[in-house]
Amino acid sequence: MNVSVVLFTSDLRLHDQPALRAALEGGRHVVPLFVRDRAVERSGFAVPNRLAFLADCLRDLDAGLRERGGRLIVRSGDVVEEVCGVAAETDADEVHLAADVSAYAHRREEGLRRALEAAGRRLFVHDTVTAAVAPGTVAPAASGHFAVFTPYYRQWSRQPLREPLDAPRAVRVPDGVGSEELPVRSAVTGVSEGLAEGGERAARERLTGWLRAGVAAYEDRHDDLAGDATSRLSPHLHFGALSPVEAVHRARRAGGPGGEAFVRQLAWRDFHRQVLAARPEAASADYRTKHDRWRTERTAGDDIEAWREGRTGYPIVDAAMRQLRHEGWMHNRGRLLTASFLAKTLYVDWRVGARHFLDLLVDGDVANNQLNWQWMAGTGTDTRPNRVLNPVTQGRRHDPDGVYVRRWVPELSGVSGPAVHEPWKLRGLDRAALDYPDPIVELSEGLARFKRARGQE
Ligand code: FAD
Repeated sequence: MNVSVVLFTSDLRLHDQPALRAALEGGRHVVPLFVRDRAVERSGFAVPNRLAFLADCLRDLDAGLRERGGRLIVRSGDVVEEVCGVAAETDADEVHLAADVSAYAHRREEGLRRALEAAGRRLFVHDTVTAAVAPGTVAPAASGHFAVFTPYYRQWSRQPLREPLDAPRAVRVPDGVGSEELPVRSAVTGVSEGLAEGGERAARERLTGWLRAGVAAYEDRHDDLAGDATSRLSPHLHFGALSPVEAVHRARRAGGPGGEAFVRQLAWRDFHRQVLAARPEAASADYRTKHDRWRTERTAGDDIEAWREGRTGYPIVDAAMRQLRHEGWMHNRGRLLTASFLAKTLYVDWRVGARHFLDLLVDGDVANNQLNWQWMAGTGTDTRPNRVLNPVTQGRRHDPDGVYVRRWVPELSGVSGPAVHEPWKLRGLDRAALDYPDPIVELSEGLARFKRARGQE
């Protein structure tokens, strides 16, 4: 009996799953394996929102495998030891894995390769499982990766994409392979109340619904905070319950300016992945240092706490921070303006903000989170690193009637219209009765501090 192991990581699906399809080739038996990796748990990356969503994904993956005659095998421990152990138990001669970009993923891959080869087994690593266009596929002549999005996107768009693969019809798992119980969402404590449901089924339904009813208006409405008119596919893409290749194909077929604008956003995901693949240290070190002497937990503790709690006195910032806590997700416009507020207006180290986002975001992703934070902090790939978003202007532009603010900041529910963005200017209402804080910083002072720090005066 020929046996392959498929190690599922950020690719928790059956449709368009090249690693699984390759493992099944030639009628092989397959061990579909997920390892609850102790190293990830110890790193602090395994936070309640993502653990709960992961539990949904694993249950759904198991259900899908069972419909095809298989099941998911779950083990906990050191990933290399567990994979080698399962391969030895089942006498598997091949292990299949999706390529990934973080420093940790590189170490995992190397560790697996060494240990498997020493035991006479082969590791196959598959590109275009977790990215539509794999890192390194397009690169400028002078260096290994693109540092500017627009030329990257031009080349990205010209790349031929492989056709999405169907889900396999049958999966035969060797008898007698032991598995732990699948984790359950209800056993995870500290989960955000409004956390979305995970799993491939939910992911595919969302994509289909989005392409039918949402994407057409995406170009015009993607920044409309109250309208919530983006796809909300990010958690599904993060866990790989949805294939990025399939999402691009289907969005292109949907066509129109909305489809193209949406595909462009998907390219941003690949852009950050190719930056991180080339510069793994950018997860924690400035990509392009500006020699900032940031304020930190020690010097700006109260400001940081107010930002985390959504009590800065800037309603649009507070609304977005509260959405993050309540849903484990935040609208992109909210992410941009809250990050600008922390890193630039408060001049706090971007790593403090990135950590808080990673503690809560269900789509929290090293490449997307750290590099978007660096973008907003002006230490990353933004070609205008010193731009500062004004939270009042942003609020008036992207939440003109104040609907988003009132949704998340109930203290301001009695304030109608755009006045909600500047409650300190209210006339005729007892401001003290609002129980809403005064701004923790004057915008002009924050701007002056930032400009001084960046030598812009
Ligand atoms: P849509 O607007 O529907 O976009 C479709 C998909 O394109 C998204 O699901 C996402 O996969 C991708 N995408 C969109 N914008 C970006 C972007 N700027 N960079 C990379 N990919 C993008 N995204 C994450 O997936 N994980 C993160 O941890 C994360 N952290 C962020 C932190 C900051 C400070 C900022 C400014 C952005 C961050 N983003 C992150 C990017 C973006 O905000 C989210 O991907 C998006 O809001 C998810 O919502 P959506 O699925 O409705 O997006």
